[in-house]
Amino acid sequence: MTDEVFLAYTIIFSVFVFIFGTVIGSFLNVVIYRTPRHESLIRGRSHCTTCGAQIKNRDLIPVISWIFLGGKCRNCKSRISARYTVVELLGGALYLLAFLRFRFSLELIYCFILFPILICLSFIDIDHMEIPYWCSISIAVLGLISIFTVNNMPWYEHLIGAAVISVPFAVLAFLGAMGGGDVQLIAAAGLLLGWGIVPAALVGILTGAVYGVVHKAVTKNSEMCFGPFLSIGIAVGMLWGQDIIQWYVGLLG
Ligand SMILES: [Zn+2]
Repeated sequence: MTDEVFLAYTIIFSVFVFIFGTVIGSFLNVVIYRTPRHESLIRGRSHCTTCGAQIKNRDLIPVISWIFLGGKCRNCKSRISARYTVVELLGGALYLLAFLRFRFSLELIYCFILFPILICLSFIDIDHMEIPYWCSISIAVLGLISIFTVNNMPWYEHLIGAAVISVPFAVLAFLGAMGGGDVQLIAAAGLLLGWGIVPAALVGILTGAVYGVVHKAVTKNSEMCFGPFLSIGIAVGMLWGQDIIQWYVGLLG
């Protein structure tokens, strides 16, 4: 394959993967809204949260419909939160990053499952100050399966990853400095990432600390959710964790 053909394929697949990610993101909006309210994911069509009007099929195209409607409900003209579009774009962007990083590989499938879970738990944590159990459990199951399928690290490194950050986090949670949901999430992600959970946690703690300082200065309220920042870290760990570890080991000589 010549370089030009390779580039052409990359561009074509990138467009498809991005669109696929926005469609997944569109479904995640439903999951984020409905699961904490114990509503069915498949029954009941999407409706405007202000006037209750059903959303027409032609208005369900990710990103494009929102722009075309000027961010307003077709029926009652009330504003539709930009957040739905942000979640769709996030889905597209993360899927694209995963494809460019891993191409067609088993790791890509892991990203395609992990990233939607991270998006869900982040926005549910923002809304309800709680990381749902099913998110951490799903990531743990993904981690368990990876022990037998992805051959990029020995099995015991998965177990080290599950404990190395979650144990100190559990101590912090015991002291009341952190939520139990954060500990479960970091343990589950560690099972998947192995040593990659260390850079993941560092990214999560750093971004969370920066946000926490600004948040407290602006709102005078020190309570904040940590899930979104841990999720950013876990996504970084999934995409580049092994590279970061190898670079660090190289520094040690
Ligand atoms: Zn409406």
